[in-house]
Amino acid sequence: MSNHLSDRVQKMSTSATLAMAAKARELRNEGKDIIGLSLGEPDFNIPDFIKESAKQAIDDNYSSYTPVDGYADLKKAISNKFERDNNLEYAPNQIVVSTGAKQSLFNVAMVVLNLGDEVILPAPYWVSYSDIVKLAEAVPVEVKTGIETDFKMTPAQLEAAITPRTKMLWFSSPCNPSGSVYSKAELEGLAEVLKKHPNIYVVSDEIYEHINFRGGHVSIAGIDGMFNRTITVNGVSKAFAMTGWRIGYIGAPEWIAKGCTKLQGQVTSGANAIAQRAVITALEAPKSKIQYMIDEFHKRRDLVLELLGEIDGFKLNVPEGAFYVFPDVSAFFGRTLHGVAINNASDFAMYLLEHANVATVTGEAFGNPNCIRISYAASEKELREAISRIKAAV
Ligand code: PMP
Ligand code: GLU
Repeated sequence: MSNHLSDRVQKMSTSATLAMAAKARELRNEGKDIIGLSLGEPDFNIPDFIKESAKQAIDDNYSSYTPVDGYADLKKAISNKFERDNNLEYAPNQIVVSTGAKQSLFNVAMVVLNLGDEVILPAPYWVSYSDIVKLAEAVPVEVKTGIETDFKMTPAQLEAAITPRTKMLWFSSPCNPSGSVYSKAELEGLAEVLKKHPNIYVVSDEIYEHINFRGGHVSIAGIDGMFNRTITVNGVSKAFAMTGWRIGYIGAPEWIAKGCTKLQGQVTSGANAIAQRAVITALEAPKSKIQYMIDEFHKRRDLVLELLGEIDGFKLNVPEGAFYVFPDVSAFFGRTLHGVAINNASDFAMYLLEHANVATVTGEAFGNPNCIRISYAASEKELREAISRIKAAV
């Protein structure tokens, strides 16, 4: 069949996280016993009190098109959440609700970036950033960080990456895939550099905000001089285990919020009505209602570090948030395992899938070719079994 795909889509890569999850599903359907540690998706059910409010919303006939930027009372709840959790004063007209944080990120890219603008991405970065930036005809500029600096970008590295074309910096903290959390002092260091470059905007992706084991999440928008140039992205997929309900949001300068609303009005319209009603309930609840999931992730992080630490060749940092470990496995490169030549992280991830029946994701997709990403959003039993299979295979 001839291929008439646009150049735009032909140039895109497929999301590596979703592709690996699909591959694992396919192998499972063929009867293989695959343990999936590729997808960043909590394995918990949505808490009952949130489900109840969605059921109520159906009975209350929340069935019409929603306002493009989100229900007014949801935006008020988000504004209150920003104030309560982050000490940020985003007015409702600075907030846009979207169909997942992924759409929020896409909106921002389309609204802020022009052809050839540069976007600094401290690597490793979340897999979709670079393709979203490219879809907006801008240029991702990777700043390599390694395990020695806990995968965090230093102010000097930021300074060195800035050119007259730099328009934005995008990063996540807690970070997907490294689990690293920037401290207040570290963010102040980055802000100090940005002070000298007032035309650069920052996307701060805080979707793992609550899954933070050191405590004390810091938003860069709260640092002196940063509020009017930061787009704070967040959502309910991770902390509330609501991945499939597809709600994300931004707090941003008003002109950016307006642009996102204009764009969304021509693309998806307002986000799902029932899910928005349920998110009001989720965001108004005290954090104590979701603490059990965070405690469980913390326990699993410790377990995974302990078990992987027993395998020669896995070099690990101690992730302080999110639910991933990102081991450097470059010690295996150049070796042959069970007749398979391992030359890079993609070979290694594929080897683990085929010889250990464990799905992980290659670090190449995140801008770091020495590492693989392992999601520990899985049961303790699955994690123990997966790591013992990995150990046996290497
Ligand atoms: N940012 C990061 C860092 C993520 O890991 C994810 C995971 N899906 C997203 C954004 C997108 O989340 P959502 O499900 O809200 O689209
Ligand atoms: N963000 C999750 C991950 O990194 C979900 C998959 C995706 O949206 O790409 O695995």
